[in-house]
Amino acid sequence: MSNPFPQVKRILLKLSGEALMGDDPYGIDAPVLQTVADEIAAIGRLGIQLGIVVGGGNIFRGLKAGQLNIGRVAADHMGMLATVINTIALAEALRAQGCEARILSAIQMESITEPFSRERAVGYLEGGAIVHFCAGTGNPFFTTDTAATIRALEIDADVLLKATKVDGVYDADPVIHPEARFFGRLTHREVLEKNLRVMDMTAISLAMEHGLQIAVFNLRKPGNIERFIRGEPVGTLITGEKT
Ligand code: UDP
Repeated sequence: MSNPFPQVKRILLKLSGEALMGDDPYGIDAPVLQTVADEIAAIGRLGIQLGIVVGGGNIFRGLKAGQLNIGRVAADHMGMLATVINTIALAEALRAQGCEARILSAIQMESITEPFSRERAVGYLEGGAIVHFCAGTGNPFFTTDTAATIRALEIDADVLLKATKVDGVYDADPVIHPEARFFGRLTHREVLEKNLRVMDMTAISLAMEHGLQIAVFNLRKPGNIERFIRGEPVGTLITGEKT
């Protein structure tokens, strides 16, 4: 099917590992995985080119290194491998829906995934596959938000869509502080200056430097990605300048 929303041709979708966890404290919840895959497959069917970065926080985060008495670098390696587990699960859930899904990894593991290259990614996107970028940046001390920003820039995505559990960006966690102020529009600079916890500073700085727009939206509301693509006001839009 051809893309009915020509202003958005290529998206990079960032899901945290927790997006696959549901209400459980750990791991992948089967009904949640299915719901997320339904939502993503529907976007793929609109003819939008879709790249996906999934985090690993539902399985392991490098910040746990101290508790386990292992080094931070080794712990980050574990965290990056956790993203591979999540990515394989999501790619399989999409394949079960008839989508073509490709997995490109920042860490070489060629019996399971293909190595990442920009050319390979763009080729698959143009061929209609949903392209998963796993293992983060391949480097310790980074996050998958930064990996998502780098991949979005590398593939020339029109927007980085950052999925969350709330409706967008607030000045405090709205789950704990119901009076928190919601922002419909922000600049990258405002995110940094107000120290808003959207993505880590490395990711936001990189997005600011290269003019990458970021849309933060609630993944738990079905149809939100499509609403954004149609141009409806969904979540928070972060751009270089407010127009
Ligand atoms: N990680 C890393 N380098 C990267 C991306 C991720 O070392 O480029 C590790 C890091 O330990 C991190 C873990 O992988 O804690 C899981 O990623 P992240 O915390 O970004 O996942 P999310 O919060 O999105 O689920």
